[in-house]
Amino acid sequence: MRAKTKLIHAGIVGDEATGAVSTPIYQVSTFKQEAVGKFKGYEYSRTGNPTRHALEVLISELEGGVAGFAFASGMAATSSVMMLFGKGDHVIITDDVYGGTFRVISKVLNRFGIEATFVDTGDLSNVEAAINENTKAIFLETPTNPLLKVTNIEEIAKFAKDKGLLTIVDNTFMTPYFQQPIALGADIVVHSATKYLGGHSDVVAGLVVVNSDQLATDVHFVQNSVGAVLGPQDSWLLMRGIKTLGIRMEEHNVNAQRIAEFLSNHEAVSKVFYPGLANHPGHELMKKQTTGFGGMISFDVGSAEKADELLAKLHYFTLAESLGAVESLISVPARMTHASIPSERRAELGITDGLVRISVGIEDVEDLLEDLTQALA
Ligand SMILES: *Cc1c(COP(=O)(O)O)cnc(C)c1O
Repeated sequence: MRAKTKLIHAGIVGDEATGAVSTPIYQVSTFKQEAVGKFKGYEYSRTGNPTRHALEVLISELEGGVAGFAFASGMAATSSVMMLFGKGDHVIITDDVYGGTFRVISKVLNRFGIEATFVDTGDLSNVEAAINENTKAIFLETPTNPLLKVTNIEEIAKFAKDKGLLTIVDNTFMTPYFQQPIALGADIVVHSATKYLGGHSDVVAGLVVVNSDQLATDVHFVQNSVGAVLGPQDSWLLMRGIKTLGIRMEEHNVNAQRIAEFLSNHEAVSKVFYPGLANHPGHELMKKQTTGFGGMISFDVGSAEKADELLAKLHYFTLAESLGAVESLISVPARMTHASIPSERRAELGITDGLVRISVGIEDVEDLLEDLTQALA
């Protein structure tokens, strides 16, 4: 089955009982038992819900894993995966990881004794140097947010396997349509499904896919114990969004390439970060490990004032956090998504005050280019 067909036909399609072609929303908390412990697969919706289950099977098949799990947000998904670890365990993490991931690891999970080292995972020697006796996993985000740095998933996963470590990949930016971490050797994939998978700025959700029965048992244990599950309505919305993921990602990709090329030739823009540009340091690697470059572009306009001017003039780029939806969004990472990262650390990472990030939507690209032209003039 080809990728676009899979988005429509994978998972549990429709409803056997009625023939409904869309999965019903099982808005229910508990299920009748015929006798104690005798039930039809579901007992309580934190443990399992049929609508959520349909989504979990779908994402598992799309990522080529063994089992999927749906959570109340991307952060709930990441945190639940991190709860596979315990006091004294150590994890190596991509340095310019999503701000919320940095926050939960450095300000919450550290209180439970989970240790972390943040390194540029784009260079394997940094990962090697960060390994301790208690290292249990390598957590990658590729490409990163907002600088779109690229990590070689296959190389890191092979290295991790040799050392007995798990490889975890945040696949939010690429989605399984463009990047398949499990096929490249990763053990666990996490998603903020709030972004491209949902795709319409109308649902907050997180997904996890694992590549083994043991990890499936372990993640389900955490999901059921901690209980940060996704509700049936939101599970249904996500399945609805995923059906059009293929056509949306193709449009995001084409539009972003055009805009990145336009920006790199614009005198008001000093730097453009987009992996589809031939001069991007991760370009060749992306061509090998992904089937598209995505819809995220960051560019530097020089100062916070210049960034504010641009924001005020744009018509089609909505100033908002988040990304990956049909409408184009714009943000200033240093003062928005990455504000929870201390300013010294932001400077180290290169997240300057003039850095602007756009999530290119699926509007007609000519309108987006005209809008950027007038706003940058
Ligand atoms: C948004 C995002 C998250 C967090 O997801 P939420 O759904 O907002 O909790 C994690 N990773 C990446 C790459 C993100 O963009």
